Amino acid sequence: ARHYLQRIETHAGLNAYVHVDAERTLAQARDADTLLASGNATALTGIPVAHKDVFVTRGWRSTAGSRMLADYVSPFDAAVVARLAGAGMVTLGKTNMDEFAMGSSNENSHFGPVQNPWDAARIPGGSSGGSAAAVAARLAPVATGTDTGGSIRQPAALTGITGIKPTYGRVSRYGMIAFASSLDQAGPMAHSADDCALMLNAMAGHDARDSTSLSRDDEDFTRHLGQPLDGATAAKPLQGLRIGLPKEYFGPGLDADVADAVRAALAQLEALGATLVDVTLPKTELSIPVYYLIAPAEASSNLSRFDGVRYGHRAAEYKDLRDMYQKTRAEGFGWEVKRRILVGAYVLSHGYYDAYYLQAQKIRRIIANDFQNAFGQCDLIMGPVSPSVAWKLGQKTADPVQMYLADIFTLSTSLAGLPGMSVPCGFGEGGMPVGLQIIGNYFDEARMLQVAHAFQ
Ligand code: GLN
Repeated sequence: ARHYLQRIETHAGLNAYVHVDAERTLAQARDADTLLASGNATALTGIPVAHKDVFVTRGWRSTAGSRMLADYVSPFDAAVVARLAGAGMVTLGKTNMDEFAMGSSNENSHFGPVQNPWDAARIPGGSSGGSAAAVAARLAPVATGTDTGGSIRQPAALTGITGIKPTYGRVSRYGMIAFASSLDQAGPMAHSADDCALMLNAMAGHDARDSTSLSRDDEDFTRHLGQPLDGATAAKPLQGLRIGLPKEYFGPGLDADVADAVRAALAQLEALGATLVDVTLPKTELSIPVYYLIAPAEASSNLSRFDGVRYGHRAAEYKDLRDMYQKTRAEGFGWEVKRRILVGAYVLSHGYYDAYYLQAQKIRRIIANDFQNAFGQCDLIMGPVSPSVAWKLGQKTADPVQMYLADIFTLSTSLAGLPGMSVPCGFGEGGMPVGLQIIGNYFDEARMLQVAHAFQ
């Protein structure tokens, strides 16, 4: 813990953390020492972890990257935080993020942008950019993140680390500050598939306090690591694995350097015994408008609780209640959040609901069905995570649509509720890391991690 606290200090310029409290961390580390000595330790006991600031934490500020919650301290721990603490993990601090997890570059944070540790002039990806930069720069061995439309996978890809978004409902959303509840899902960000599997063991599980939490038996996500697939040999551990390549993921929108790195990774997987099959996900392009209607619609509802009365910021001066709401929200929310609240309120309003929101929900169902058709021909789907390597800070901030287009390969997985992960697979332009995306069918995380491990 001391080692990491020191590195956090010497690398403060990355802006990866928004809240560090060394005394609290060291107290937790001492408790972990006691647990280790007692013989009740788990594989995670004493290992430091950084939490995305979207998870509420008792005693530490929980800001969700917003001025609205800049001084907010929760009276309880999020389920994810409590579960990892229960396993003996030591909290290093809270990591920077796009405000309310809305963004793809971590430039929407009230606390300023995060730098990519590979090149300080570039973005780390978003919205879990602080967690990604912290792990990549060794300011934490592992971190938590959340993924609503790519926010674990995309920053993992752009900073050269491994991250997995589990099947929707695997990990409790209790205590996760809500963005779009039908899409939000927490997951680990780490250096390897093994570390992700260990973290997921502690993070996943039923929670009655989250109405969309799945009741499934506990699983050991490490159980297949280092083993060949059923019926395969040690020499060709992926023999029999059919990898589906959606033609829409390798089209004109993909940068050549990223395509090369992903193709090289696929060749390596073939050498390990896998076969590549062409599949199609015809509605991929529509995932952008569909997501950017549904996510803001849910956000406009979720964010109505920030009204100056119940949580966080309240305007200093106001005439009456309405004026207080208006001033508080005008001051407390940043531009991207306001844009989404406006879009969300619009598409849910009488007269536009059928034309936009309902249509988007129908296409969401078709997108999920398309994945099931593709999984009729393959076991896992693979492709790029991001159409380009990490871009320059400021490059896309003037044009939100350019920013949204960068999410093309991650949104459909979220809309379908499927698990997806990013595994480092080489380097592109400027020596920047590239991520290979592995998409599994529902509940197939253990196999995804097995294949990622064989490849790493
Ligand atoms: N980039 C997407 C957005 O801005 C996804 C964010 C996320 O997954 N939290 O909404």
